[in-house]
Amino acid sequence: MVPDPSDFLAVDAELTAEERDIRDAVRDYAAAELAPRIAEWYESNTLPRDIAKGLGSLGLLGMHLEGYGCAGTNATSYGLACRELEAVDSGLRSFVSVQGSLAMFAIHRWGTEEHKQTWLPRMATGEALGCFGLTEADAGSDPGSMRTRARRDGDDWVLDGSKMWITNGTLADVAVVWAQTDPDAGSSGIRGFVVPTDSPGFTANEVKHKLSLRASLTAELVLEGVRLPADAMFPEVTGLKGPLSCLNEARYGILWGAVGAARSCYEAALSYALDREQFGKPIAGFQLTQRKLAEMVVAVNQASLTAARIGRLKDAHELHPAQVSFGKMANVHAALDVARTARTVLGGNGITLEYPVFRHMTNLETVLTYEGTEEMHALSIGQALTGLAAFR
Ligand code: FAD
Repeated sequence: MVPDPSDFLAVDAELTAEERDIRDAVRDYAAAELAPRIAEWYESNTLPRDIAKGLGSLGLLGMHLEGYGCAGTNATSYGLACRELEAVDSGLRSFVSVQGSLAMFAIHRWGTEEHKQTWLPRMATGEALGCFGLTEADAGSDPGSMRTRARRDGDDWVLDGSKMWITNGTLADVAVVWAQTDPDAGSSGIRGFVVPTDSPGFTANEVKHKLSLRASLTAELVLEGVRLPADAMFPEVTGLKGPLSCLNEARYGILWGAVGAARSCYEAALSYALDREQFGKPIAGFQLTQRKLAEMVVAVNQASLTAARIGRLKDAHELHPAQVSFGKMANVHAALDVARTARTVLGGNGITLEYPVFRHMTNLETVLTYEGTEEMHALSIGQALTGLAAFR
């Protein structure tokens, strides 16, 4: 049998029936509700808040978390959902990653029972939105150098500082904010705080003029004397372990999502090449185009296999963070290569919003950088290989 051009190595044949059902439900929903509007959102640099309710009703928010109204699926199913959302746009997958893997995961993993009861059920339905504030203007790859401070005032905490590049920051009802605590407060080190965004002194300013991930809202968070009760702090986790545990979850979704973006670019190129005629025949009939199509289908399927394997490792609770780095580095790199090759196949049409390719290509420049740059993931793999840390 001739291989299916959309799944050349039949990677999805390894999925369970339940996983296939989830894949199809997300794919159908995305095709019907999100794909028709994505170019408009991208062009106008918006993402309407109301998409949250639809995503919530499908169980996609906090999908792999247990209890508190979350769907509690396995990791592979969550990965498949990320793949199908990012096949439409990286901004949509980012929305779901930040809500589920960063904000909700942080509260679920590190929050008090009260934090969980207050926020998670409403976040699972999309009624309440969250964001995750780790990066600062001067602290990106090196978050340990953050300047945002939390100091004690009586029993309260008072937060001062700012966070940069925060996805969903202007939409969020709650922000998980990481801050250095006062050494005199008996709690020195980086700690996480659950900050309702209507707290006095909290503002979110939209980052304008982005040329990438435009169907996603990005913000600067400013914290000026934000006063929080003592129990706003995650009680048990100190240091970078807290935020890194969340980032590891989100990176897992990214390595699947990149497969979706790559697949979308490759499929657009294949269909265009079969349709477009030059020199009296479809450009798909030229050897140079076939070479590009062959390289793209190889890259998409290799990325797909990588994601599937990492999904199974995660489901078996055997996944090491360096393996997540492997997947993020390999799959985002592959997706960018595929997007750039696909763009050439589309010629001049490749630079328009009429086709998904250029939009994916510019989005993937953000995906390459956020949640750990490609260089940081190379260093994490290097450390696993050699036992030597080369970060500083
Ligand atoms: P830098 O850290 O300044 O890096 C610049 C370059 O230097 C990179 O190539 C980097 O790899 C390289 N470099 C740095 N250190 C080393 C080293 N030791 N060795 C070799 N090379 C090095 N953050 C959040 O907290 N929450 C969010 O929701 C969020 N959303 C984002 C959305 C968007 C659209 C973007 C663009 C970013 C978002 N981020 C978010 C921030 C993102 O995680 C950071 O941009 C990323 O970690 C890189 O930090 P930086 O931009 O400061 O780059």
